[in-house]
Formats: sequence, C-alpha cells, structure tokens
Amino acid sequence: MDHRPFEDWLVDNQTLTVDQKRQLKAHLQECSSCASLAEVNLALKSVRLAEPEAGFVDRFQLRLTARKTAQRRRNFWGFFILTVSVCGLFSWVTWPVLQDLVQSPVNLLTTSFSSLVSFWASLQAILRAGMVLFKVVPGFVPAYIWAVILFAGGAWSVVWVASLIKFTKYPQGV
Ligand SMILES: [Zn+2]
Repeated sequence: MDHRPFEDWLVDNQTLTVDQKRQLKAHLQECSSCASLAEVNLALKSVRLAEPEAGFVDRFQLRLTARKTAQRRRNFWGFFILTVSVCGLFSWVTWPVLQDLVQSPVNLLTTSFSSLVSFWASLQAILRAGMVLFKVVPGFVPAYIWAVILFAGGAWSVVWVASLIKFTKYPQGV
C-alpha cells in the first residue's frame, strides 16, 4: 500500500484541500498504520503547552530561600549538638582532674610537682646506671677490641664524609 502523500500530510501538519481531506479520510479507513499516525497527531495537538502559573518565579525563589534557611538552621543545630557532645565528652573524661583543680588547685600543683620530681629521679637513676655501665664495661673488654672499634668507626666516618663530598659535588650524577 502506498502511504506516500498521506504520511507527509500527517507528519507535516499540512493544510489540506477539501479533495485531499477526502482522499486522506478514505486512506485512513483502510490503512491502520496511517490511522494510528493520525491518532497520535491528534493526541499531540490536544496537549496544551503547560505554561507556568502566574508568580511561579516568585514562589520558586521563596521556596528556595526557605529551603536555604532551613538548611542553615539544620547546619547550626548539627554544629551545636556536635560541640555540646564534644564538650560533654571532654568534661566527662577530664572530670576527675577538673574536680581536683576546682577543689584544691594547690593539691593538683603538688601532685604534678611530685610526679615531675619522681620523673627526674628516675631519669637520674637511669643516667647513673649508664655511667656505672660505662665505667665497668671497659674493664671487661680487651684494649685491642676498643682499638678495632675506634679504627672501624674512624674508617667508616672517612668513607661517609668522602661519599658526602662526592654526592655534593655531583648532585645530578653527571
Ligand atoms: Zn497508509
């Protein structure tokens, strides 16, 4: 079946003469393909282009502003709750110390001072132990081992310094 002129008429929405209209009607009665095309065309024509209602832009902006404000409020409350919970946790953890500080600042000072003193005492003990070790050990180790250690250390230092100079001279590895 030849749909040629009828399809074009339907698709292009051409203005038809009376004779053309009659031909089209006759064709649509026997051609289901063109009939459905005509139906779709009719349906499309009946759909009105929906225009935005009056004041749409204003309402949209109002809604946008309201949403922004709500978000800002949410952000604020989120921040507030976070701050409060962090502060609460911090006070809960440090409460014993805070309590001491509030009740007797002198006591706290004494405690920290005594812990500092004990720390200093243990440090001194460690230093003393190290000194004793330093004094005792050389007696157990034969002199030539010290010589070997010294020599090795010296040689290693020379090599180290030499390589340092070399790498400083040729930083690009030329
Ligand atoms: Zn047809």
